[in-house]
Amino acid sequence: MASETMKLPHVAVTASPGLGHVIPLLEFSKRLVIEHGVHVSFLVMNTNEQPSAAQAQLLQSPNLPPGLQVVDLPPVDVSAVASVRFTRLCTIAEESLKSLRSVLMEIGKPQALIIDLFASQAFDIFSELSIPIYSFFTTSVAFFTFALYLPTLDREVEGEFIDLPEPIGIPGCSSVRPEDLLDHVRNRKNDDYKWFSFHMRRLPLAAGIFLNSWEDLEPVSLKAIREHRFYLQIPTPPIYPIGPLIKQDEPLIVSDEEYLAWLDKQPSDSVLFVALGSGGTLSAEQLAEMAWGLELSKQRFIWVVRKPSDATAATYFNVGSDVNDPKTYLPEGFLDRTQGVGVVIRSWAKQAAVLRHPSTGGFLSHCGWNSSLESIYHGVPMIAWPLYSEQRMNAALLTEEIGVAVKPVLEHGKKVIEREEIKRVVRLLMESEEGKVIRHRVKKLKESGVRALGKGGSSYESFACVVEKWKEDEATK
Ligand code: UDP
Repeated sequence: MASETMKLPHVAVTASPGLGHVIPLLEFSKRLVIEHGVHVSFLVMNTNEQPSAAQAQLLQSPNLPPGLQVVDLPPVDVSAVASVRFTRLCTIAEESLKSLRSVLMEIGKPQALIIDLFASQAFDIFSELSIPIYSFFTTSVAFFTFALYLPTLDREVEGEFIDLPEPIGIPGCSSVRPEDLLDHVRNRKNDDYKWFSFHMRRLPLAAGIFLNSWEDLEPVSLKAIREHRFYLQIPTPPIYPIGPLIKQDEPLIVSDEEYLAWLDKQPSDSVLFVALGSGGTLSAEQLAEMAWGLELSKQRFIWVVRKPSDATAATYFNVGSDVNDPKTYLPEGFLDRTQGVGVVIRSWAKQAAVLRHPSTGGFLSHCGWNSSLESIYHGVPMIAWPLYSEQRMNAALLTEEIGVAVKPVLEHGKKVIEREEIKRVVRLLMESEEGKVIRHRVKKLKESGVRALGKGGSSYESFACVVEKWKEDEATK
C-alpha cells in the first residue's frame, strides 16, 4: 500500500499528432494526476508549422492540473514530408521521437513511458534505459483484436484484403467485412500499410496496454483477448480497460456561449448535433445533400460545417484554423430557411459541452472512437457517418454489435448519400419508436460507463492497479 510519505511516481506520456490522439492521452494524464496522485510530463509532438488552433487551446488551457507539465518536443521540419495523412502522421511521430531520450533526461528519468499506437519506435530508443513502456490504444477493443490478428492475416492472405470474398474472421470476435476495413490496409503496397503493420506488429512489446473501453461495452472482445488461445499464444501483454476516458471541461469562448445559450432554449433530446471529428470533410455534392437532408427532416440541429473537399479528412492537421464563410458553400438560402431551427458553426465546436447538454438528442458522427465514447458517455444515440481511418469498422461495431447507432444507406452506384435518405435516418433517430429503443439502450450504457469510472468500478480499479505497481516500484528504488 502507498504510504503518506511515499514519493510520487513520475511518468511521461506522449501522443502522436492529431486531436484524436492528443485528447484521450491528455485526459488519461489528467486522471493520473487528479485521481491517482501521479506526476505527469505530457510530451507534445510539434512541427515547424503552426499547431491547429483547437490543439493550442487545449494544451494551453488554464484548467490543466498543477501536477501535469506540458513539454514541447523540438519541432520537426515537415517541408519535405509526404502529405498523405497517415504516412505524414507516422513520419512526424518517428522524427519527434528522436529527441525523446534527451528530453527525458532533462526533465528527469520517468518511471514509465506511455505512448499511443503510432509511436512504437520508442521501444527501440528505450530498450537500454529500463523504463517500461505502456501503450494506450486510442480506439476500440474490437479494433485492437483486429490489430493483433493483422500479422497472421498478412502471412496467410495473398493479394489485397479488400478483394476477399468473405468477411474476415477475427478469433473469438465478430468478423470484419472487407468493405469496412480501415484505409491503411486497403492497399498493401503503399506506405500507409507499411507504417500501420509496422506499429501493430510491435504491440506485444508493451509492458501493458491501456484500452479506452470498458467491460460492459465490449465484453466479447475483452473475453476473447483474455481467454482465446490465439491471443494467449502471441502473447498479448496485460490489458487494462480504463475507459471511457473522454474530454471533460474546456474553457468556453464567446461564440461557444451563443450556441450553448440557444441549446438552453430547446426541448430536451430534441437537437441533432452534426460533427465529423477533427479531420472530416464532405465533397461539395455531399455537403449540399446533407444541408437539404437536415432541412427536409425539420428537426432542430447544430452543424459544424467545413469548406467542401474531395479529401475525407482535409482539416486533420489544422482544424480550428480553417477560417471560411459557410454562405459561400452551403445551398443558397439554407441559412435563412433554417434560422431558429438550426445553428451552423464554422470548423470547430465544443463537442463535449454540446453532447453533455440535455437538449441534445442525437449525434451524426464520423464515428471516430473519441466521438463515439463521448456520445455514449452522454447517453446520445448516433447516426453513423464514417469517413476515414478505422471509422467504418467503428460504425459496424456501434450499429450491429453495441446497438447505439443507425447508418444511412448509400444507394448502389451512387457517389453520395441523398437528401431523402438523410431525412429518413434523422427522423428515425429523433422521432421514431426504433429511435426510442436505441436512445434507451445508450442511456443504459451511459450509466454503466459512469459506474466503470467511479471508485470501485472496473475501469477505475484497472487503472489503480497499474498506478499501485508504479508506486511500489518507486518505493523500492
Ligand atoms: N471535437 C470537438 N469539436 C469538433 C470536432 C471534434 O471538440 O468540432 C473533438 C471531439 O470531442 C473528440 C475529438 O475532437 O474528442 C475527435 O476525436 P475522434 O477520435 O472522434 O476523431 P478524429 O478527429 O481522430 O478523427
